[in-house]
Order: sequence, then structure tokens, then C-alpha cells
Amino acid sequence: MKNWSNDEVSILILNCHLPIREVMKLLPHRSYNAIYSKIRALDDNNVQPLLAKSFFNKKITSMTDVEEYIKYDLIQCLECGKWFPFLPVHLNRIHQIDSIDYRIRHNLPAQTPLAGVKYRDIHRIKMNKLISDGTITHEHLEDAIKKASKADRGQRATYELDRQREIIKNNKIWLKSPRTKKGHK
Ligand SMILES: [Zn+2]
Repeated sequence: MKNWSNDEVSILILNCHLPIREVMKLLPHRSYNAIYSKIRALDDNNVQPLLAKSFFNKKITSMTDVEEYIKYDLIQCLECGKWFPFLPVHLNRIHQIDSIDYRIRHNLPAQTPLAGVKYRDIHRIKMNKLISDGTITHEHLEDAIKKASKADRGQRATYELDRQREIIKNNKIWLKSPRTKKGHK
């Protein structure tokens, strides 16, 4: 079997969140097993970015931690300590846990992206192109956002709540809100 070209590897990395059957359509010369083994091989190659802090076996305790956690091209799996461009596939395949449970378990805010910076940038460019082509409309996106916020399951990281409480206290928003003045009518 001939070696994987850089283009093929890029296609694989960008689409590794799809089921392998779907990836096969994008890589017609590769078999199911070839794609599966390549995904596993890439997983083992992904090493910690030089300056990144590891949160494996440590706790995310502040928004500063969250910012540090998501600022590199690869993102760490807090279940096993390995690094990936995109986490959800790995979480599902290896740890049988979904993104929502993962965020709750590791004290991450509900909207935390589970992909590295490079992946997010490329995905953003792809999305913008789909929007400008008219393939995706803003209504679709609003729907997706609503679904995502429902999937929040009402859970919030404790440091998020503390920060929110602090903001509310400092702004004294109950003095400004007409709703609270009228006593929730
Ligand atoms: Zn893992």
C-alpha cells in the first residue's frame, strides 16, 4: 500500500469526527482498516505542544485555566492525557463518553470548544464558505446554538458561578432591572 500523502492526512485529520464509513467517501483509495489504523497511529504521534501546560490529573479551577486549556493547536484529553486536534471522536471511541459529560466531569464551561486552535480556524473558514454559498443559513446556526444551550443540562462550573455572582454583586443589576422592581409580575 502506498504511503499517505500530506493531503490525505489533512483530509483525515479534518474529518476524523465523522464515522469511518463517511471518511471512506473522502478517501476512496483507503480501506476501512487502513483509515482506522491511521487514526490510531496519528493519535499516538500527537505529543504535547512545547509551551502547553498539562491538566491531566489536575483540576481546571478558573477561566484562566480554561483559556490555557484551549489555546494550542492540539487539545489534551483529560481522561488519558493524550493530545488531539479534535477531541469528541476520541472521547466517543476510546472513553465512551460524550462532549457534554466530558465538560461536566472536568469542570469545563458548557460552551468550551473541544478542538485545537488550528482545527477551529479551518472549521470556521469552512463554515463561512458554506454560509456565503447559501448551503447553511443563519437560522440553521441559531437552531444549533439553541440545541447546544439546552444540552447544557443546567450545569455550570463552580468558578463560573462564582464569577457570575461577583459580576451581579458589583453591577447591582437588581437595581437596574425593571422586572425585579415590579417583583416578577
Ligand atoms: Zn483520552
